[in-house]
Order: sequence, then structure tokens, then C-alpha cells
Amino acid sequence: MLRMETIQYNLPQNRIPQAWYNILPDLPSPLAPPLHPGTLKPLGPDDLAPLFPMALILQEVSTDREIEIPEEVRQIYAQWRPSPLIRARRLEKALDTPARIYYKYEGVSPGGSHKLNTALPQAWYNKQEGVRHLATETGAGQWGSAMAMACAFLGLQCKVFMVRVSYNQKPYRRALMETFGATVIASPSNETESGRAVLAAHPDSPGSLGIAISEAVETAAKDPKTKYSLGSVLNHVLLHQTVIGLESIEQMSLAGDEPDVIIGCTGGGSNFSGLVMPWLGRNLKGKSSARIVAVEPAACPSLTKGRYAYDFGDTGHLTPLVKMHTLGSSFIPPGIHAGGLRYHGMAPLVSHIIDLRLAEATTVQQLDAFAAGVQFARAEGIVPAPESNHAVAEAIRQALEAKSEGKARTILFNLSGHGHFDMQAYIDYHAGKLENFEYPEEEIAMALAGLPAVC
Ligand SMILES: *Cc1c(COP(=O)(O)O)cnc(C)c1O
Repeated sequence: MLRMETIQYNLPQNRIPQAWYNILPDLPSPLAPPLHPGTLKPLGPDDLAPLFPMALILQEVSTDREIEIPEEVRQIYAQWRPSPLIRARRLEKALDTPARIYYKYEGVSPGGSHKLNTALPQAWYNKQEGVRHLATETGAGQWGSAMAMACAFLGLQCKVFMVRVSYNQKPYRRALMETFGATVIASPSNETESGRAVLAAHPDSPGSLGIAISEAVETAAKDPKTKYSLGSVLNHVLLHQTVIGLESIEQMSLAGDEPDVIIGCTGGGSNFSGLVMPWLGRNLKGKSSARIVAVEPAACPSLTKGRYAYDFGDTGHLTPLVKMHTLGSSFIPPGIHAGGLRYHGMAPLVSHIIDLRLAEATTVQQLDAFAAGVQFARAEGIVPAPESNHAVAEAIRQALEAKSEGKARTILFNLSGHGHFDMQAYIDYHAGKLENFEYPEEEIAMALAGLPAVC
């Protein structure tokens, strides 16, 4: 008789968490405060009011350990949550490793990534406060798709500034956003002062997340009826993603296992935080001692090669200054295919836990990331997003290390999304057209020389 091995650890719908987990009160020291870009004084809630609804501003600074998830948001979450936790048995066999590999799969959301976990509550809180228009930016297109979908669910208008290279390279992402009713504009654009300034200096600028953020922030700041929404980096965004980690704690206990190492890829830090913060909270209470590893592309190494300093979140210097690992706000990362990881900065919360040595950071080269993604796809049948490939590569590295040591190791990683809209990247990889990028040392030195002077 065939012996069935359990590979999926599923929770019923009523186990969707009732509250997000805020790690701030459990950390040994507080975050450095965000500063006003004009006065360089700590920011007050009112300074952010033109951009965000008050409920999200309060979440941004909250020190409550648990923040209740609105019932309507939980009901919509139920379309794809709790997301599955899967044991990668065929990958383990292919690697011939004694390690046990588990992944939390966020690609089951209708947008194909973890982004909807926060797009939905962001749209919901805006709607509660009477907002009808949201402006946002998107790099690879995942965030824009999630926000467009959330706005369609809740009846809001959505305008997306999409980084120009992606706009040209990823017509299907654009079509998806437009299908959900969003307006999509290639950035830099002529619609904003920030966009016009970039175009005047570089008429064929490929754009960057930093530029697109300036355009979306400016749009919201100038129109009292429009608010702004960000897909990563901010505390409230990371908070909303903790549903991932909270579910995974229950699922690992269903599996009767305990992770030795927990891995996530980092662009702005939201899927990484979503998985790891609830586990880190347990570490801090002495209930577990898992190693926590953030993985970034070698071409955009903010955590491993950046400076931990106050910097702007955007190129046009409209956003508050936050203390984070940064490559400089004028740094335009090389055109790697993991568009969602091409950001010059990092979430202040992720920077803080790295600085406190509560987590570690490492890098993966583009070709190694794709090789890992292909190996994973052949074993598990899921083609990962190019961003997620970075986490896959580190999980495989850890499994091979366990093999060479001849020891068991339990590995948990976040498979943040599928790559069905990124197949051009795989086509280019198979055709041998992708390359590794060296660390752009000189450009980063130049960008870092321009850091704002804050004591
Ligand atoms: C956006 C995105 C990322 C990177 O963003 P984080 O905020 O660091 O999570 C990673 N994976 C996928 C699939 C994404 O869509």
C-alpha cells in the first residue's frame, strides 16, 4: 500500500488571525523617530495626515502588541487565507539533504503575492475615513496589482505610477491593473513636478521606485481628495503582513516541528517581516531560538553594504527621513529582474533588528537566484517570483550546508509569490541572457556622499 506523507499543513478559515502582531513593545530598544524633511525635527501625526488616514498613522506609531484585524478584512482574507505551509519533500530528495524544508506559500492570493495582505486593510481604513482616491507606485507591478484589486473590492479609485522599464517590459501586469479599474502611468511622467524634473535631466530615464514614490506622494500631497499608499517599508505595512508568521507558528506546530532557521527575501522588508516578526517575538520571550536570515540581491545590497543612517525614502526628497540601511536616495539599482527588490533603502524596523543583531543579512547573485528558482520549480511545481528566488537560494544553501555537516536542520522560508507574470525573466534566463551584476561600488559611494546631514 502507498504510504501517504503529509506535505501540507492547512488551517481552517476560522484560524485566520484575529489580530496583527506588533513587535515594537517587545524589542529591547525603540526605533529612531522619523524626521520632517524640511525641519529635520521628529514627525508628528499631523505631518502625515495629508498622505495617510489617521488609523494607519496611529498604527505606524502604535506600541500595542496586538492590533485587531477588522472583520470585513478577515472575511476578504478568507478567499486565500490561511495560506498553506508546505513541506518541500521532493526538493529535499533532489538535494539529498537531511534538512527538513518548509515554505509558507503566499502565491495563493488572487494577486499572486503577499502584497494583498496589506493592500486590503490599507484600502479599507482609507474608505472608513471617506477617502475615495488612492495614489501609489509600483516597481515590478505586484504592488500595483494588489492595490488595484483591493480598490476594486472596496470601490476606490486607484492611480498607479509604474516604473517605466517595467511598464514597457510587463504589459500583462499593466493589463491586470487596468482590468481592476486602475489608471496606470509610466514614471517618470509629465503629470508631476518630480517627474518633469527627472525627464528634463534624463529624457529617457528608465525610472526607479524612488522616482515613482515621489510622483505618487506629490499627487496625494497636492490633492486633498487623494491619499497615498505604500506597499512596503512602513511599520503599518509590515504589521499587516504578520498574518503570514502568525499562521506559520500554528502550522509548524501542526507539523510537530520547530524551525532552526527562518528565511525571507528583502526589498523593502515586508514579506520578510511578515514571516519572521512573530517568530522573533517568540525568540525574545525565550520560547525559541531560530536564526533569522534576510536575503537581498547582490546588485542592490542595502542591508549588507549600505550605511545605517537617516535618508529620504524617495528620489525627489518629499518623504520623511527615516533611519535605515541605505545605498543613497539617488542610487538607481541595476536592472535585475527581481524588480521588487530594487529599492535603495530598507524598512526601519528591519534595519533596527539587523543593527541589534537579532537577525542576519546575506546576498544572492541574480544567476544563482534563478538557478535556485528553476531547481525549486522542477521539484515542487511552483515557479517562484524572481524576488522569492532569493529566499529559495538561501534555503537550498542552508540545506546543502546541513548535508555537508551530516546534521538535520529545519528550514522555514517565505515563498512570497509565484512568477507567472515574470516569465520573460525566465525566458531570458534560459536563453543565457541574464548576467550577474557586480556591486556598483562607485555609484553607491557617490549616492552615499549625498546623504542628508542629520546629527
Ligand atoms: C514586492 C515583492 C517582494 C519584495 O518586497 P518586500 O516588501 O521586501 O516583501 C518580494 N516578493 C514578492 C513576490 C513581491 O511581490
